[in-house]
Amino acid sequence: MSQAPSLHFDTLAIRAGQHRSDECEHGDPIFATSSFIFRNAAEAASRFMDNAPGNVYSRFTNPTVRTFAERLAALEGAEWALATASGMSAIQMVAQSLLRAGDHAIVSANVFGSTVSLFDKILSRCGISTSFVPMTDLSAWRDAVRENTRMMFIETPSNPLCEIADVPALAAIARDAGCSLVVDNVFCTPALQKPLTLGADVVVHSATKYLDGQGRCLGGAVVGNDPKIQEACFNYLRTAGPSLSPFNAWVLLKGLETLHVRMRAHCENAQALAEWLAGHPAVAFVNYAGLPSHPHHGLAREQQSGFGGVLSFEVVGGREGAWQVIDSTRLLSITANLGDVKTTITHPATTTHGRLSDAERERGGITQGLIRLAVGLESVEDIRADLARGLDALVQTDGLVGRAMP
Ligand SMILES: *Cc1c(COP(=O)(O)O)cnc(C)c1O
Repeated sequence: MSQAPSLHFDTLAIRAGQHRSDECEHGDPIFATSSFIFRNAAEAASRFMDNAPGNVYSRFTNPTVRTFAERLAALEGAEWALATASGMSAIQMVAQSLLRAGDHAIVSANVFGSTVSLFDKILSRCGISTSFVPMTDLSAWRDAVRENTRMMFIETPSNPLCEIADVPALAAIARDAGCSLVVDNVFCTPALQKPLTLGADVVVHSATKYLDGQGRCLGGAVVGNDPKIQEACFNYLRTAGPSLSPFNAWVLLKGLETLHVRMRAHCENAQALAEWLAGHPAVAFVNYAGLPSHPHHGLAREQQSGFGGVLSFEVVGGREGAWQVIDSTRLLSITANLGDVKTTITHPATTTHGRLSDAERERGGITQGLIRLAVGLESVEDIRADLARGLDALVQTDGLVGRAMP
């Protein structure tokens, strides 16, 4: 770290991790180079044998990537961060660093779809077994612990129901079980939540979402304090090579500079929309932890400094009603991505959660009338007007209002 850790978040987001070269550049340069040269054979030998610090090869040492990692570590209040090509490769890296054949992981049932597939379909082939448990049921976590449990994994707030995990309570269960608690911090980013200070051992990021914030590139990171986990992850990165490109690292650095400002604006827009939706006659209920009626509102206040940009709501009329609202939009983007300045609208039951069985969907609370919004930074009045078109039409559609929920 080139800056004193006493600096504030907004300052670190702009200045941490920059090591100016002899060219005295003001901005962060892109080191578009795969390899680095050595002054002589002896220096090459000591770099390769890890006896001397310095750059070797961009699979595991690149100055632009290092600046991104150091800046993110500073924002999470962590000792170290390692950048990866995507969020999924970050999760793969931490799983393969903490787990080996014969080990067991406990994963919350409502994590990102590809995370479920990673544990269920890929890590299972390496002899790693996984139990999926409801995130907010602490006794289910305790009951799922086995002698060979080495890792617990959560994503909080959850998608799309905005449930909040009790991170300190889960950290205590992990400590008792002698295993590591990993938190996917994509939805809050360190601007709103710092899981390491709540007792988590490792944080993972899909930098593709809010860290970039403008839908431009993929990236990921693993963040932590434990030097043993750092060494295991670094050896994995160096050998398996899920490396972030210097160009993408530079894009993500630009994203971090405005992270705090953007997250505050995402929260403000989402809060305003959640309150408006909760009062609309075509909306049965709204899932957003910023609403005092949300069952985890108090917990979210304790753990987070904001409630995030994602919310979901149930419309009357089941799938037909939800599709009508989605198809009536002209401004919002119909896509499953999130963490962008553009607001996106999704029907989880037929897209992100479409491959689940009806029973699985029901257990997960993914009803046919549920719509997810990843609220962007357009004028909240324009977003509201775009949603009102379909919602108002639903109220006017004879027989839809008051029909039993699907
Ligand atoms: C998108 C996402 C991921 C995966 O990240 P990629 O960058 O798409 O690989 C993991 N977790 C969460 C919560 C996500 O939203």
